[in-house]
This record gives sequence, structure tokens and C-alpha cells, in this order.
Amino acid sequence: MTHFDIQSIRADFPILKSQVNGKPLVYLDNGATTQKPLAVIDAIRKYYTEQNSNVHRGVHYLSQIATDAYEVTRRKVQDYLHAEHAHEIIMTSGTTQGINMVASSFGHAFLQEGDEVLISAMEHHSNIVPWQMICEEKKATLKVIPIHDSGELDMQAYSGLLNERVKFVAITYVSNTLGTINPVKDIIEEAHQYGIPVLIDGAQAIQHLAIDVQALDIDFLAFSGHKMYGPTGIGVLYGKEKWLDVMPPYQGGGDMIKEVKFEKTIYNELPFKFEAGTPNIEAGICLSAAIDYIEAIGLANIALYEAELLAYATKALTEIEEIRLIGTAREKSSVISFLLKGAHPYDVGVILDKLGVAVRTGHHCTQPLMDRFDIPGTVRASIAMYNTKEDIDALVEAVKKAAMMLL
Ligand code: PMP
Repeated sequence: MTHFDIQSIRADFPILKSQVNGKPLVYLDNGATTQKPLAVIDAIRKYYTEQNSNVHRGVHYLSQIATDAYEVTRRKVQDYLHAEHAHEIIMTSGTTQGINMVASSFGHAFLQEGDEVLISAMEHHSNIVPWQMICEEKKATLKVIPIHDSGELDMQAYSGLLNERVKFVAITYVSNTLGTINPVKDIIEEAHQYGIPVLIDGAQAIQHLAIDVQALDIDFLAFSGHKMYGPTGIGVLYGKEKWLDVMPPYQGGGDMIKEVKFEKTIYNELPFKFEAGTPNIEAGICLSAAIDYIEAIGLANIALYEAELLAYATKALTEIEEIRLIGTAREKSSVISFLLKGAHPYDVGVILDKLGVAVRTGHHCTQPLMDRFDIPGTVRASIAMYNTKEDIDALVEAVKKAAMMLL
């Protein structure tokens, strides 16, 4: 089954050797955050023992070293995304900041009363609330593309919602709650027929799927380092040069200026126009190690392996009579959300934890999606490249025990 050596991959993640409640840790909460390989942990230690300094400022040796390492990450991300220019890569604190940046900056420049913004029914709160905020301010209307019961986007409804009033489309590539992989190429193509730019929330895609921003013609893509085996506190906003050039800065401060006079400030060029203040230098530099790690194994290999685990888990879980799967799209990434009929997801999660199985329970920051299915939440198992069939077996056994105890 494996196209790579799963035991050597697991050996790279020290935390996977942990015991929880006297049981070996089975970590299936990768949608919330991934564990870190030694390569990333070592890079963090190296940063503080050999490189620590502020970036883009000093002429001294350490500042040059830190700046060079930080800029290496930018170029690595550029290659990872197949972006045309390195200055289209804006370093952020994570997906949330990237989306807020676009909603605020694009919204202030281009949204007007009566305009419309489209999002989908399966968005994470971080791709809902920033758009609500700017729509309210600008007296624009936020419209929601509905989904089918399977968790697939209603593409017919999407086509019907597109018109000249729509000024922006913001949509997730992969649903963190349902695992649905959205047809972003078609979504973007249709929007572009009206000249509408599209933001893709890549938080749950970047670690599972190869993304070519030019081939997909993506206008904006936001993601977080911590969900792709990298450090917390760093993320990326990719934006097409033609949009970033005409958008105003999101925040003012150091680094984002060329010249400041009390009468007028001249902003810096891209990408610095959008990078005010001292960034998370450590995390920015060490994101490189995570990208190297993924690339050494190969995203295609990872995707294949995870798809096999997902199919294995889906089959085993659906054999449990009391299980109701939430999210049965044909194209899915490594997320399984389910309910044990009659049991609250929280109670299931507590029992799983006692058995060493880490899953997420609740609304997963997608409350409107829970309302759409008329459920309080789900139990969510999310798979990463270091998970095994044994992890899935442990999950299934634990769910069976929970069913016995709760039902
Ligand atoms: N979008 C999606 C689809 C997510 O899964 C998440 C994280 N759960 C986010 C956005 C927000 O990411 P972050 O908290 O790293 O900014």
C-alpha cells in the first residue's frame, strides 16, 4: 500500500511516540494542526542558536543571515505554488490574517453599496466573518452558494448567483468539516467570465493537494504553516500582482514604507507593502524546512497514501450500524466527519480521548454548516501522512466502545 516508508516517516515525528491515558497516541486531529518533523524542530533550534536577528533592517551579519533565510522561504513558497513572482507571496500570521487582509483591502478599495460577495455554505468562520464585516461597512450583500446533502457545492446555484453586481467570490478548496474538494478550476473560470476575482481558502488543501496558482488562475490563496507540518504563527497570502498592485496596504508601520513624511507616506513595493512590522521571523524561516520535508516525500505520494487511508477508514466506520457520515462528496480529502446516532459528539470525543484517540468534536468553526445539516456538531477524524491503518483500526475500535457505552 505505501509508496513511502511509513515507519521512517513516523520516526521523524517525536510526539507520535507519546502515550495518552496509558495508551499509544493516535493523532487524528490533523485538520486542526499537524505535528512537526525533527527537520522543523531542528530548524527552530538552529534559528535561535545561529540566526536570530530582525529582518530587512540591519546591515550587520546576523541581520543579513536572517533576511536571506526568510527570503529563501518566500521563493520556496513561490515554487511550491508555481507563482509567477516572489513578490506575490505575502507572509502573514496564517489563513485568518490572509483572508482578513484581502476582505479589508480589496473591500475598502473596490466594494460599493449594492455590490455582492459570494461565499459558500461550507466556509470556515474565517472565510465568513471578514466578508460580513466589510459588507456591512460598505452596504454590500453577502450571498451564500448552497450545498447538496452530500456536501458537494451546488454548481447550478453558483452559476445562477453570478451577475454584474458580484464583485468577489471567496471559497474553500477543501472543507475542514466535510472533506469536500471543491471544483475550484470551474468556480474560477465561471467567475472570471464576469471579471470577478476569486479567493481560495487553502487551509485544508495545501498539505494534501498540489496547487498551481497559475494553472488554476487563482487570484488569491490563503493558507497556514501549522497545518502543513510547519511552525505556528506563519501563513501565506498569494495574490496576483495585478490585484496586489492596486490594493491599499492592510496595516501601516515599519517595513511597509518607502518614505515617511508627516505630510505624506510613500508605500513600499510588493510584497513589503503588505508586511508591516516585525514578522514571525523564526516561523517564516522554519516554514522552509516543512516545505522541504513535504517535497522530499512528494505531494503526489502523500495524496495517494492518504486517499487509501481515507477509503479504508470510510469503509470500516460505515460498517458500524449507528454511524451517520456527514460529508459524502465524490471528491474528498482526508477528513471524516460522523455522528453516533443518539450520542452527543462531545461525549464520543471524551471516550475516544480516554482510549488515546485524538479527534476534534464540535462545530469546527463552521456553525452555519452545522445549521444546514441541523446537527450540533460532528466527530471529525482528519488524516495526515504519518497516520497508519493501525491508527484507523484504533479509531474504529474506540468508536465501537463509545457506541456500547453511550447508546
Ligand atoms: N479555513 C479553513 C478551511 C480551516 O480549516 C482553518 C483552520 N481550522 C482556517 C481557515 C483558519 O486557519 P488559521 O486558524 O490557521 O488561521
